[in-house]
Amino acid sequence: MRISDPKLIEAIVALGVEHKPGVSLASKTSLEIGGTSDILLVHKHEALPELVRLLKQAGVPNRFLGGGSNVLLPDGELPWVILQLSRQNPEVRFEGNSVFVDCAANLGQTVTMCAKHDLGGMEGLIGVPGSIGGALRMNAGAYGTQIGTYVREVQVYRAATGRIETLRGAEINFEYRHTSFASDDIMLAVRLELPSKPYSDILQGIRICNVKRRASQPLNQKSAGCIFKNPPGASAGRMIDELGLKGHSVGDARVSDRHANFFVNAGHASAADMLALIADVRRRVRDRYGVELEEEVIVWKEQ
Ligand SMILES: Cc1cc2nc3c(=O)[nH]c(=O)nc-3n(C[C@H](O)[C@H](O)[C@H](O)COP(=O)(O)OP(=O)(O)OC[C@H]3O[C@@H](n4cnc5c(N)ncnc54)[C@H](O)[C@@H]3O)c2cc1C
Repeated sequence: MRISDPKLIEAIVALGVEHKPGVSLASKTSLEIGGTSDILLVHKHEALPELVRLLKQAGVPNRFLGGGSNVLLPDGELPWVILQLSRQNPEVRFEGNSVFVDCAANLGQTVTMCAKHDLGGMEGLIGVPGSIGGALRMNAGAYGTQIGTYVREVQVYRAATGRIETLRGAEINFEYRHTSFASDDIMLAVRLELPSKPYSDILQGIRICNVKRRASQPLNQKSAGCIFKNPPGASAGRMIDELGLKGHSVGDARVSDRHANFFVNAGHASAADMLALIADVRRRVRDRYGVELEEEVIVWKEQ
């Protein structure tokens, strides 16, 4: 969506928010799929309440994008403007076993910085791409670790109240790739509390996770990680693999040869290709196993 009203643009820029017109969103997502839209880059969290108020008043719908590693965006002109937190020097501050992190910060870099302060626990998350905010929204997890375990406080912009509020970790439900944040909450900063651990032990844990990930995932290809959640007691990847669907494709959207729950953009796949592949695989799994797979990737649709 393009913001065409110069007065609205002027008011947005006056808040210190950067207006980037007509950006290709494919360049902002790990799948490299997505049409175009204006991006509003928020440099100061305090600007968000007034920014969202202005957009609402002008009838401009918006969506929030983190690192773009778990989303499938539509083709063509998007029906929303995109909000993003600026990633220039996001704050990461240490106080004892607590670390205060801006949600724009990169998850992997944060894990490494914590390690250098002898704070461990998050080794399993080292290879998960994207931002701290995206990790909170998704309750990112791998190799027996999930970020939610370490969350003590989250600063959130709540669309429901129009204010920035602080939630205690205990007030938030963190489940398997699901959290109790409202769909229009925007997470701004978090306090994590991590166990003390010697740097060398953390580094060893990180190395082990990196080796496992490299051995099983198509890391040099464009993907959004796992497309489907694992149903209780089963593995989506194993079912897809057993159906002989590795390499199965629709256009340039393809089931990875390496990991059957990773669907890759093998060239110039469109959102339509990827959605058709997702629907086809889901139907085959339902027909064979009677299981309805739920997407882990967040598909942006008009409601
Ligand atoms: C190669 C690869 C491997 C992966 N491996 C794993 C894995 O092992 N485990 C795992 O859990 N995931 C994995 N993923 C998926 C993905 O990296 C995670 O879900 C990640 O936490 C998403 O973060 P992001 O910043 O990229 O979020 P985005 O993709 O930008 O957004 C995802 C959703 O979160 C919302 N969101 C993002 N930031 C905020 C915010 N600050 N406030 C409110 N909402 C927000 C967005 O609106 C969107 O709905 C993998 C992805 C890839 C490409």
